Amino acid sequence: MKPVFIVFFGPPGCGKGTQAKRIGDDLGLVQVSTGELFRKHLSEKTRLGLKAQEYMAQGALVPDEITIGMVRERLQQPDIKTGAIFDGFPRTDAQARALDDLLSEFGGKVNMVIDFALPIQVSRQRLMGRQEGRADDRPEVIEKRLNDHAEVEARVMPHYGAKPGLVKQIDANRSIDEVHEDVRALIKGVLC
Ligand code: AMP
Repeated sequence: MKPVFIVFFGPPGCGKGTQAKRIGDDLGLVQVSTGELFRKHLSEKTRLGLKAQEYMAQGALVPDEITIGMVRERLQQPDIKTGAIFDGFPRTDAQARALDDLLSEFGGKVNMVIDFALPIQVSRQRLMGRQEGRADDRPEVIEKRLNDHAEVEARVMPHYGAKPGLVKQIDANRSIDEVHEDVRALIKGVLC
C-alpha cells in the first residue's frame, strides 16, 4: 500500500496537534510536528535546538534550511513507511515545495490538506488559557504568532489550493470529539 501523507493546517490554538495525536494513534499514522521536534531538540540541547530557540522564543519562524533539514531527517525513520500527518509544517512556500520533493522520494505525495478554521479571537483565548508552560505562550509572543498566521496562510495555501479537491475545511470551533469525528471521516476516505 502506498503511504498516506496529510497536512494539518490552521492557526495556533486550533487544536491540530491534539487532533493529529489522537487520529494518529487511532489510524496508525505518525504525527510529525515541527514545533514538537524543535522543542525535543531544545530539551536535549542539540545544536539545532539551541539555534531554533533564538527564533522560537520570539515567535518567529525558524529558517527554512534548518526546518526542512530536520523534516528530511525525520522522514528517514522507519515508522514513516505507512505515512504521516504533518502538523505545523509547511509554513512557507519553500517548505511546501520541499515537502513535495521529499515525499516523491517515498513514491508519495500530499494526499489531503485539512484546514482547521478558527476565528482569531477564539485562538487568542485558547492560547492565553493554555497552561503548558511553553516559552512562546507569553501574551506579546501570542499576538505575533496570531498575526503571522495570516501571512503563513497566504504563502502556503495557494500551493495547495491550486490542486482541486485537495484542501478540506473543518470548523475547529467545536469540541475535540466533534472535530475528531470529522477528521476521522476525512482521513478514512483517503485510506481506502
Ligand atoms: P508550533 O508548536 O507549531 O506552534 O511551533 C512553535 C514554534 O516552532 C513556531 O513559533 C516557530 O518558531 C517554530 N516552528 C514550528 N514549525 C515551524 C516551521 N514549519 N517553520 C518554521 N518555524 C517553525
